[in-house]
Amino acid sequence: MGWQKRGSGRAYDSKSRVGTLIGNKSGKQCAYGVKTKDCRMCSFHTNKGQEPPKHDCRKNWLGSSKAMESSVAVDMIKEVEEQSAEDSVLIMDDHTTTMARIRQSISHPVHKWSDLNHTKNTLEIVCMHCKKSTNTSPTNAYNLFRNVLAMLLYKTKMNQTN
Ligand SMILES: [Zn+2]
Repeated sequence: MGWQKRGSGRAYDSKSRVGTLIGNKSGKQCAYGVKTKDCRMCSFHTNKGQEPPKHDCRKNWLGSSKAMESSVAVDMIKEVEEQSAEDSVLIMDDHTTTMARIRQSISHPVHKWSDLNHTKNTLEIVCMHCKKSTNTSPTNAYNLFRNVLAMLLYKTKMNQTN
């Protein structure tokens, strides 16, 4: 998934969200979705106090920026399933909101696997935080690293069984 704008990990004020569903084995794009709450034509005329003329308006989202991601994900899964394919495993980041929305909206069980790149990034951030906060010896840093890795492996295993 991609944001038009994302200031930090906590700021979700993007005006659009793009998602792509890719087959794990085929590596091919299965679905594509865009949610946007902005339109240049509408904004241009609205800012002038005018009613926008008839146009191919792409605005399709009125909710919060944060809710765009889960909506795009659900739409893509439904689109693929309309083509008689069933998504039973999703490999994605660890956004619990998106997964919760998918499970609410899809009638069959959907399992989530953690995306390796997101997991690596999370591990790196945690290790850097441990090193900074403890200012510790290599042995203690190793123990912290081992514990964090064990926690991530456990989390991944739990994701696979949920
Ligand atoms: Zn428009």
